[in-house]
Amino acid sequence: MALSIRILTFLSITCIALNTFAKDSYIIADAYLDVKSGQLLTKPTLHIRDNKIIAIKLNGKMTIPAGAELINLSGKTLLPGLMDMHVHLSGDASDNFLAAMNYSIPRQTIKAAKNARATLMAGFTTVRDLGASGYSVIATRDGINAGEITGPRIWAVGHAISITGGHCDDNFSAPERRVKADGVADGPWAIRAKVRENIKYGANAIKVCATGGVFSKGTKVGIQQLSYEELKSAVDEAHMRGVVIAAHAHGTNGIKAAIRAGIDSIEHCSFMDQEAIELALKHGTYLSCDIYNTEYTLAFGAENGVPEENINKEKMVSKAQRESFRVSAKAGVKMVFGSDAGVYPHADNGKQFSRMVKFGMTPLQAIQAATMHSAALLKQNLNLGQLKPEFLADIIAVDGDPLSNISLLENVTFVMKDGVVYKQK
Ligand SMILES: [Zn+2]
Repeated sequence: MALSIRILTFLSITCIALNTFAKDSYIIADAYLDVKSGQLLTKPTLHIRDNKIIAIKLNGKMTIPAGAELINLSGKTLLPGLMDMHVHLSGDASDNFLAAMNYSIPRQTIKAAKNARATLMAGFTTVRDLGASGYSVIATRDGINAGEITGPRIWAVGHAISITGGHCDDNFSAPERRVKADGVADGPWAIRAKVRENIKYGANAIKVCATGGVFSKGTKVGIQQLSYEELKSAVDEAHMRGVVIAAHAHGTNGIKAAIRAGIDSIEHCSFMDQEAIELALKHGTYLSCDIYNTEYTLAFGAENGVPEENINKEKMVSKAQRESFRVSAKAGVKMVFGSDAGVYPHADNGKQFSRMVKFGMTPLQAIQAATMHSAALLKQNLNLGQLKPEFLADIIAVDGDPLSNISLLENVTFVMKDGVVYKQK
């Protein structure tokens, strides 16, 4: 008897607690985009409870209780919150390139907090940060999750993993200064240890640098850096720990080795050949091609102090990368949206949509890359990437039809993350 009274008391307290904290709101709009079918559905009403979508009904078929919180987005089209799978929140492209390398980790963390807020306000409710010094973005993520600062959901890799002297090492200093990036490791077991170290300090994604890159000194974009054995050990360790792993890879051999090793996404993917496309199709590998930022680097790089070596590499890569994007998309390779924001100004992420359409995608495919496909890459396809009952209430709106004008995604006018409104105009 005493026990059942105790259970009843517990249940009623729980119910009171649930009632006390459950927050209901309703959104009405002109339309919403079902990103899976590509249909624009008219006059939706969405019922949001706390951080979840509870129900969606069309054409006024949902009764909104009197006195309920109503968010009136008449004239607007709703979409799922946008997702960018390649950002670097702790840096600003407009800072002097070499001077910014001497920013302290606390300074970089402040930058990351500022840029996280700007990114959310641009409609990107989820991002994956692919490399920052000193766990600065992991601290930013934790601050956002604790409600102390404002920003998107973040998957963060900690330090990008690189060979000695590779793209993600720091090669700009004289040898006697003994500068080495924290993500440097050589050999399969050392690489495994680096994956473990990143996870130990909070990484919920991993990145390896499989080839040379544009913004490093003395690396060649087309040249493979991590061996297949090293890539395989990183992939095995990350997957054993249940973590998604990305490979920075421009060059063809590095792309193929990373795909064969079982990598989840290839970043940049500049020099794809037919075999690389077939391998990506066979392994279900996602491509994350940052095809917008070249415009910023070529226009403003010199002004921002980017060395000539790096600007020349950008010139060499950009045309090939856009062609690789075009043929890969046409072949049906799985694509996510990855912009490399930080190489160009944060909050301009949405400018990449129109370039994805220009270089071969339909507007719907570009939107799917930034929603349901990115959610699938992160293994969040039951929580994120669509507007559906039981999904998290990450919702944005634009003023019009994004399928007929993709550039509308550069001007997101409503942002909700986790059921909380951050922007409405
Ligand atoms: Zn990057």
